Amino acid sequence: MGRCSLEGQNFKLQDTSFISRKPSQHPSWIEIDLPQLRRNISIVRSFIGNKLYCLPVKANAYGHGLLEVALEAQRAKVDYLAVAHLKEAAKLREAGIVIPILVLGAIHEDQIESLIRWNVEFTISSRYKAELTEKICAQKGIKARVHLEVDTGMQRTGVRAATAPDLFQFLKASPHFDLVGIYSHMVFSDTPDHEFSSEQIKIFNKLLQNPLLKEARLVRHMANSGAILNYPSAHFDMVRPSFLTLGYAPKSQNIDGLAPCFSLKAKVSYCKTVEAGSGISYGHTFRTHKQTKIITIPVGYGDGYRRALSNQGYVLIKGRRYPIVGTICMDQFMVDVGSDQVHVGEEVVLIGKQGDQEISLQELATLCKTIPYEMLCQFNDRIPRIYKDEPTL
Ligand SMILES: *Cc1c(COP(=O)(O)O)cnc(C)c1O
Repeated sequence: MGRCSLEGQNFKLQDTSFISRKPSQHPSWIEIDLPQLRRNISIVRSFIGNKLYCLPVKANAYGHGLLEVALEAQRAKVDYLAVAHLKEAAKLREAGIVIPILVLGAIHEDQIESLIRWNVEFTISSRYKAELTEKICAQKGIKARVHLEVDTGMQRTGVRAATAPDLFQFLKASPHFDLVGIYSHMVFSDTPDHEFSSEQIKIFNKLLQNPLLKEARLVRHMANSGAILNYPSAHFDMVRPSFLTLGYAPKSQNIDGLAPCFSLKAKVSYCKTVEAGSGISYGHTFRTHKQTKIITIPVGYGDGYRRALSNQGYVLIKGRRYPIVGTICMDQFMVDVGSDQVHVGEEVVLIGKQGDQEISLQELATLCKTIPYEMLCQFNDRIPRIYKDEPTL
């Protein structure tokens, strides 16, 4: 097997044969439109100018596929990837991803050596974590590439701005740290002109003006998707937009050319005509008013398709909308198609476009009383991901 070297370590040369491109035998699938993903990446680029582009691909790239999205990002010259956990970073390196990776989540003592061996940058969010890291680096004779996280109001992880200069000095003075960056995270980035956002940006800026930090060459970063659009003053040296890259504008703003690259599809598994007054599915929560055709879709809450959509959601068949009837089961649910002709095996769109109709992620999220982010993360790996690309000539 071919190998490439990254700072003395050996990694598998990229073998992309694991990427599924063929139609699925399984009767449901998530389709990822790679050309659209690439268009989104270049649109984000046009918003951020010469800033570094860091793409967080945590949580299986919001359900889109960790490795597939990372490889596409690397090919599209995205500068950095970010993940929440060591496990995700290790998977990326194992697959041959060579661009910088930053672990955003708080790290644990037993992970430090692996983080460094995988050549992954990670977050120092407290003095305690810094001392643990230093101790392990000293024992092993290794050096950590780290970003200092500053809490400007999220109260999640990160040192307070007031104690950041101290920790900065500690990291700078130690031979075991390469301090690469400093960052924070915004609370209200989706809301334009929010007072608290200005407050967070102000706190971060003030810290960066501290004479100690001012001279340091650090990658300063703060902006996620919302802040790319709403807070240009939070762009600093690097931005971290995932949601936007995947084609979703916060608050469903319309951005020319930007579009989701994710759709959920299935094949009709069963059709029958039922009489008026027939109860449908568990508990008979729906009853037919007239003779009608009921079809079965082989997707359920066991795939991550939410039970909250029972008697609420819609699907698209031949470019028309049909209502979900009855409760959603673990592996299937039913749809009322009236007197229309629908055949077993016919393609159904659960999320995405068909003809000029669309079932948007936002629509389903609203019905489920949640946010599109959670909707994307809920689909598990029983549903295969299929990657559609332009045919190569
Ligand atoms: C997940 C995450 C992001 C990406 O957020 P989007 O809203 O999807 O752009 C950015 N920064 C941090 C710290 C994150 O955890």
